[in-house]
Amino acid sequence: MNAAPRVAIVGGGMLGMSLALRLARERFAVTIFEHAPELGGLAAPWRLGAITWDRHYHVTLSSDDELLALLDELDLRDRVRWKGLRSAFYIAGALHPFSSALDFLRFPALGTIDKVRLGLTVAHARAHRDGSALAGVGVETWLRRESGDRVFERIWRPLLRAKLGDAYPEVAASFIWATIRRMYGASGSATQRFGYVEGGYRTIVERMAALLARNGVRIELGRGVDGVVAAGDALALACGARVERFERVVVTTPTPIAARICDALSQEERDRLRAIRYQGVVCASVLLDRALGDAYVTNIADDRIPFTGAIEMTALVDARTFGNRHLVYLPRYADPSDRFFTAGDAEVRHAASRTLALVFPNYAPSAIRAFRVSRVPHVFALPTVGYAGGLPGFSTTRRGLYLATSAQIVDGTLNVNETLELSRRAAAHIVADPRFRSAAVHEATS
Ligand SMILES: Cc1cc2nc3c(=O)[nH]c(=O)nc-3n(C[C@H](O)[C@H](O)[C@H](O)COP(=O)(O)OP(=O)(O)OC[C@H]3O[C@@H](n4cnc5c(N)ncnc54)[C@H](O)[C@@H]3O)c2cc1C
Repeated sequence: MNAAPRVAIVGGGMLGMSLALRLARERFAVTIFEHAPELGGLAAPWRLGAITWDRHYHVTLSSDDELLALLDELDLRDRVRWKGLRSAFYIAGALHPFSSALDFLRFPALGTIDKVRLGLTVAHARAHRDGSALAGVGVETWLRRESGDRVFERIWRPLLRAKLGDAYPEVAASFIWATIRRMYGASGSATQRFGYVEGGYRTIVERMAALLARNGVRIELGRGVDGVVAAGDALALACGARVERFERVVVTTPTPIAARICDALSQEERDRLRAIRYQGVVCASVLLDRALGDAYVTNIADDRIPFTGAIEMTALVDARTFGNRHLVYLPRYADPSDRFFTAGDAEVRHAASRTLALVFPNYAPSAIRAFRVSRVPHVFALPTVGYAGGLPGFSTTRRGLYLATSAQIVDGTLNVNETLELSRRAAAHIVADPRFRSAAVHEATS
């Protein structure tokens, strides 16, 4: 009997873990190599003062079918807590609720005609079945045409800047389509509910690790992969001084990292991976002794403020979970070269405190109980105009070396549900790879 083919998965985020599980169930002998000391990647938990919660804010939507199916498998579905959530807008120096139709009608930054145009823009975006028709047109061009200049300047530009930083003019209008689709659910009809699993992503990642172990997956933590080179018919994977042979290797990291470590790829492939532009995030977690308001997301539309939003996790999660403290995240999405990535914790904390003082009347600097900063220079690939045309597929020119990376999410936003959907497609591709099928047939017939 043939031994199970050996597969290495580079990266132990939600993508790498889910892929590992799928391949292990297809009788591959799977090893995950994760650079960090723990699994979870962007969804990993960390310590903040006396609490442990997600390093980056995470919410689950009632339309997240792939994620909910995974929670079923992990026996966690009944530990999801659901809620309706509110949002707000900080604009022209004042905070406004922005959750209901009434809030929208009362919103002072737009006149009646502007509001109608905004509503029609959302309706037009929703009328598209997929994002392909909007993938070739710039988001700014499309939104100015649909909503008018005033709505663009007051609403769309701040929202685009909040997620895309100064790179927004290069992004395709399909980004808006994908964002709106996520807000309304894939079916387009459901009113979204928002949820989290008790204990946060720590609960999910721990259950996932246990399931992987039960399926025979070997997990190597604190083992960053430095190189993947061709070794005859197979691939050699180097971690520091250790080198191991695998028949197949799947790289799930952002593409600039894949370009760096995949020596087995052609120069042209590596150049293409390097050319994909990324947006990073500097995300401050602040634990406070009081609530700021009742909104989960407050969009900050003010060029003087370095953070692009405030996410009050305790609008979703009961404050008792955090020992009656209140957890707030302040993200700044920016180009990896942004100077905030090299700013020290003290500087970021000062900026965070100033932001909270400006935006929330309830805030006082003495309310901070714990503070921590996450810096990730490569979070998601920018969906620029014509983006899908330049994307790598799962297979590469090197037999057995695959890329499965969030950059391959087209027509979607970065979220765990899309990540799991990508892993399903990647696993099916790897299992059915004809380059291995023909080898097996050849072996059997010779
Ligand atoms: C601020 C923020 C907020 C978010 N909010 C939500 C939300 O509300 N809801 C939602 O569903 N999703 C949310 N997401 C998105 C979600 O976290 C991602 O979709 C998901 O975690 C991506 O998983 P991944 O495995 O593709 O990538 P990653 O998590 O980035 O995993 C890649 C892994 O590769 C490892 N790695 C890198 N280099 C090497 C190497 N050389 N060798 C070995 N390992 C390596 C990394 O350490 C990392 O663990 C959010 C993300 C961020 C940043």
